[in-house]
Amino acid sequence: MIRKLKRICCLVLMVVIVFGCSSSSIVFADDLPADEPALETGEMLGNLNLTMLDHLYEASVVRTGQKYLGKKEINENVFEDGKKLFSSINTTEYRDAMNAKWEDVTEYGKEYDDTLTWNLKSGGYKKCVAFMKNLSRIDGVYLYKIGRTEEGRDMLALDIDLPSKREKKLLMMTGTVHAREQAGYGFALKMISDMLNSKEGRQKLETMRIACVPLVNADVCEGLRKEPDEWMEGKYFYKANAIGIDLNSNCPTLTSGILKKGVKKSKYLEYEPCGSGYCGTLGEASETKAMMKWIYYYVACEQADLYIDLHQQGRIIYDGQETGGSDYMERCDRYISAVSKLLHYGVIRDDYDDERRIGTGKGLIEWAVNCAYCYYDSSIGNMVWMDDEGYTFTGLDYWNYDEALDNGFDPLVTNDHFADMTIEIGYGQPYLGGSKTAYKNNAKEYSSRHFDRLLYVIADELNKNIVIYE
Ligand SMILES: [Zn+2]
Repeated sequence: MIRKLKRICCLVLMVVIVFGCSSSSIVFADDLPADEPALETGEMLGNLNLTMLDHLYEASVVRTGQKYLGKKEINENVFEDGKKLFSSINTTEYRDAMNAKWEDVTEYGKEYDDTLTWNLKSGGYKKCVAFMKNLSRIDGVYLYKIGRTEEGRDMLALDIDLPSKREKKLLMMTGTVHAREQAGYGFALKMISDMLNSKEGRQKLETMRIACVPLVNADVCEGLRKEPDEWMEGKYFYKANAIGIDLNSNCPTLTSGILKKGVKKSKYLEYEPCGSGYCGTLGEASETKAMMKWIYYYVACEQADLYIDLHQQGRIIYDGQETGGSDYMERCDRYISAVSKLLHYGVIRDDYDDERRIGTGKGLIEWAVNCAYCYYDSSIGNMVWMDDEGYTFTGLDYWNYDEALDNGFDPLVTNDHFADMTIEIGYGQPYLGGSKTAYKNNAKEYSSRHFDRLLYVIADELNKNIVIYE
């Protein structure tokens, strides 16, 4: 507790320092014209430096040779409504999402109950929230409210950042983006809390920080637990959110540029958000907006090393996106082989054909890869770039990131060591939904496939070549 109070005092001091010397701490300060007015400052929150988000974001929308635009100018004069050109949120909505306030709901000063362990055989939103609140009583565990679901439930994010003398690697983790895939949040909370409750785990956590939104799709997750008949799609359990949007197909990635008036559109920018069902307007769902900022923050500002998204579809692990290029793919491969060895899950590496150029995905992982290796452009829109004549290019103009680089793509790389994987837990219908049987099957999967060791393996893999300050 005293440590935590000390930390708060430190942070207050840091706010003063950061605000006082902000211009020298901007990562991409060179891109900003010197005579521009001071950028809007952000804030310190718990262990987060949200000031960085504002600076990085502002810097990321200004490119060499482009006129810097004030907020008023951007909002009023420059953009066509994105919805008219593409079914995507417009720039104002994008900025609002990225500027959304987070709330620190860490339970400072309350006593941690270490007798509470996560039982995989039951679940639910309330249990999940209470459990996370208890975890946040541990020194170095923070809890943030990052947004609301469509039905108004708080979306909560954990940040496990234990006091340490070491430079920590950063793992991001999300679960239950798809409502019927309920193993996600249970597995995430069990893995994290068991680690926090063991000596070996705490030692590992001195080398690895974990940022986690365990339960992304809380509304329909609850629906499926309480009224499964209401949340069916034919014979399948529902996967989308409460307004019918697939939260793993709703991010405004490369395919959803918002054009400045007079700028020519790349032929690969799409008019429709999605060929298949329930995509909605890209970026529309409240959950998507919250996740867009959360992902941007941890990938670009906090420099995450690895992002694991927990899904459920056939005991496999999906490899990274070609949007990130060959070095990135190699990193993904390295982490994935360690994990597949532990879980005995297969690995699927996407084949890219005529139908699937880079940047066509609209999931959380694709958004994260875009945040790391592409950039948001103030004059054009999302994750696109422009030549001297004002012609726009998107990742969709090329087969892969390396080819785009060869053709003059000049990305604002915010994170050059990022990697990711999607783990699909369990096999088929018996593992899906919110029934007791599904929970029981997933609990068995957890122990038989050694998920209890997953975060240990990840910590070891991330910490090869660690820097020790001792
Ligand atoms: Zn899924």
